[in-house]
Amino acid sequence: MFTEDLKLVGKALENFYKESVNGDEPVLKQQQMCHIMRELEFDKYLGKGGLNGPDLEQFLEKYLRLNTRLHHPRYLGHQCAAPHYSAALGTFINAFTNNVTSIYEMGPASVSMEYYLINWMLRKIGWTPAPLCSDEMNKYGHGGGVLVNGGSLANLTALILARSKCAPETWTEGSPSELCILLPSESHYSISRAVGILGMGSKAIYALEVDSEGAVIPDRLPETYGRIIEDGKRPMALVANACSTPAGIYDPIDEIADFCEQHHLWLHIDGAHGASALLSDKFRYRLDGVGRADSLVWDAHKLLQAPSLCAALLVKDHRNLDGGLFVGENASYLFHEKEQPGFDFINRMLETTKSGLGEKLFFVLAAIGEEGMASFIDRQYDLTLAAYDYIQQQPDFACPVRPQSNILCFEYLDKEASQIEIRKELIAKGDFYLTTTIFKGKRYLRLVFMSPETTILVVKDLIDSIRTLCEKTEI
Ligand SMILES: *Cc1c(COP(=O)(O)O)cnc(C)c1O
Repeated sequence: MFTEDLKLVGKALENFYKESVNGDEPVLKQQQMCHIMRELEFDKYLGKGGLNGPDLEQFLEKYLRLNTRLHHPRYLGHQCAAPHYSAALGTFINAFTNNVTSIYEMGPASVSMEYYLINWMLRKIGWTPAPLCSDEMNKYGHGGGVLVNGGSLANLTALILARSKCAPETWTEGSPSELCILLPSESHYSISRAVGILGMGSKAIYALEVDSEGAVIPDRLPETYGRIIEDGKRPMALVANACSTPAGIYDPIDEIADFCEQHHLWLHIDGAHGASALLSDKFRYRLDGVGRADSLVWDAHKLLQAPSLCAALLVKDHRNLDGGLFVGENASYLFHEKEQPGFDFINRMLETTKSGLGEKLFFVLAAIGEEGMASFIDRQYDLTLAAYDYIQQQPDFACPVRPQSNILCFEYLDKEASQIEIRKELIAKGDFYLTTTIFKGKRYLRLVFMSPETTILVVKDLIDSIRTLCEKTEI
C-alpha cells in the first residue's frame, strides 16, 4: 500500500508541477472556504476513512487544483521558496522517520545534518565553525547555531540572547525597565513583536533614521545613542536588515558595526530574506561586515529553495546561545549529565520537540551543489535588476528605488489608479500573483522573484495587463 500510494502522490505532484511551470493553470484561485470543505469531502473521510488508493488519487487531483502554485512563472507573491523537489523529499523522509533534533539519541543522522549545515553557514559568514567532538564543543571562541521554525521565532530567540547578555538578572528579576533597543524603521514586524513579547513595550524602541532608499544612516546613530543616554536607558541591541522586507534594501553593516563595537552593543542582523546572498560572489558585498555582528537570522525557506520552515539562528560566540536561554530544573527526563557521541540542540531553542529541519535544506544543496544554489541566487537578483530597467523605461510606470535583492516595488502612474485595486483585480483573475507594500509612506505594487521559471517576459506581460486592466475598468 505504501509504495502504491507513494507512486500516486509522486504522479499527482509531477503533474501539478508541470502544469505550474508551463503556466497552464492560474497561479492562484481562491474559492470560498466552505466550498473547499464540501468539495474535498472532509466530513466523508473523517467519518469512514479510506483515503488511499483510487480515493487518494481523486482527492489529490481536486486538492492540488485548489493550491496556489509557487513554481508558476507568474508567481511574484510572498517570500516563500518554490521548493526543489529534492528538498521536499528530504522533508518527507524526516516526517516519516520522525527523528527530531532536540536530543541526539532521537535523531543522530538528523542532528548531524543540522550541525553540519550550521557549520556550513557559519563558514559563509566568516565565523569559526563548531568542533565535531563532544569534548571540544565547550571550547571558547567558536560560533554556534540552531535551525528553528521560521525567521520570526529566530529573531525572538536572538533578542532573548541579546537581553541575557546585557541583563542576565532578567531571568530572576524580570525585565529591567530601562532596557531599550535600536531598530530601523523598515524592520520586520516580528522584531517589534518580539520586543513586546520580551515585556519591554514599544516605548523601549528607538527608531533608527533611514535614507531615501530605506537604509540606516550610520552618521545619525550617535545622535540616537545620545538620546538614549539622556533618557537614562540601557540599550541591549541594535538590529540591522539584510535585507528589509518591503523593498529588499540592505543596511550598511560594516559602518553600523563600527558604531556597535564602539559602544559594546549587540549587533543582530535580520538576514531572514537576504543572507542567502552570502553564497553569491556577485552580491555578497551587500553583507560586508556581517562577520562583525553577534547574531544573524538566515531563512533557507526563502532564497535557498527549501520548503517552509527552515530558519537558522547563528551566533558568533556559541556561549551566548548555549547559556542564553533559561532552563528550569523540572525537566529531568531531558536535561541530565550524560556521555554521548553527538549533540543536543534542545538548549538552543524555544521549542522542545522539533522536527529535523536540516533535511529541508541539505537535500536541495546536495542535489544542485553550492554552485548551483549560487547561480540560482544570481539569476533571481539579476532578473530583478532587468525588471527594474524595463519598468523604468515605461513612461507610465516608476520604481521608488533600485532593487538590491529579488524584491521590486513599482507603481502605475495613472492618477486614477489605486495600486491596491490593481492587485485585487490581477489576483482575482489568477493571471499573476503579486503583493503590495507601503514604502516610505506610500503604497506600491511589489514583486518578489522566487520562481526559477519567471523570466523578463512575465514582467512585460504584467505591465501590459495592468495597462489593459486600467483602460477597461475604472480602477
Ligand atoms: C520573512 C522575514 C522575516 C520573518 O521570517 P519567517 O520565516 O516568515 O517567520 C523576518 N525578517 C525579515 C527581514 C523577513 O524578510
